[in-house]
Amino acid sequence: MASLQKHPKYWFTDGNIVFQADDTLFCLHRGALFVHSPTLEGIFTLPSGVVNDGVDEEHPIKLPGISGGEFEHLVSWMYHVGSVHHDRNLPSLVAILKVSRLWQIDNSIDWAIAHLNQLNLSAVTKLELACKYTIPQWIPPSVCLLLLNPLSAITEDEAYCLGIRVYSIIAKAHEALDMERHIIAAVPPGLSLPPLSLCTPSQHSNCKDIWAHFWWQKIAHQLLHPYNPLPLNSLVQFIGEQKNPDGLNLECKGQFVGEVVESGGLDVKENIIYGAITSVQGYYDTL
Ligand SMILES: [Zn+2]
Repeated sequence: MASLQKHPKYWFTDGNIVFQADDTLFCLHRGALFVHSPTLEGIFTLPSGVVNDGVDEEHPIKLPGISGGEFEHLVSWMYHVGSVHHDRNLPSLVAILKVSRLWQIDNSIDWAIAHLNQLNLSAVTKLELACKYTIPQWIPPSVCLLLLNPLSAITEDEAYCLGIRVYSIIAKAHEALDMERHIIAAVPPGLSLPPLSLCTPSQHSNCKDIWAHFWWQKIAHQLLHPYNPLPLNSLVQFIGEQKNPDGLNLECKGQFVGEVVESGGLDVKENIIYGAITSVQGYYDTL
């Protein structure tokens, strides 16, 4: 006991519940704690089985796995809710989240998540926190962002943070998206379709040549761009924005574009992303 220190700020002489985190003792007010969490009140008003648990510095309630610094952040939050001077940096918010999850203090969980959201955290940091502290709503947007940016944008340190399993899910989804883009780019859609009423078979052979040329020049080129490929879900809009190639029957063009939509390639991207999100969620659920 000799090595234990009373916290310089959060040892209240009129406090009535004592905690020990690492080698730091905190003497707090039950009322100040319980106002934030009925769950906490339940935990600390039930007999713990330990005689005099938390009544004085000789009998502190121990907080295994929580450092003195982490507990201080939560205590500071409890005593200064709404204060503009409260720390809102990453370590303090994560500490509040960690202890709050343990004690199921919903309002400090919500407060910490809301303020973490304002820190412009990277998708990798968000996934790491989502996994450690159960923030499921951060998984879909983070995975989506990692898939929309190049795989090479993930640094070695970030890959380590993600873990081999999640990195592998992201890498495979990237590969699937690349493959889909190549498949769509490779063959101009609709060439096997017959001419429509306003076109004749001989004119239509011209339509097909023009469409194939347009596809290679304007569309495949964009889809296969090495640094900034055209997103598949912008494909139809992109075609619509291009000037109609000279000599292409508009009705036939409409039919070709219809085939782009029909071929289902555009949904494939959504399916690949959705599959990756579901895999990451599924993996985190097993941890
Ligand atoms: Zn035609």
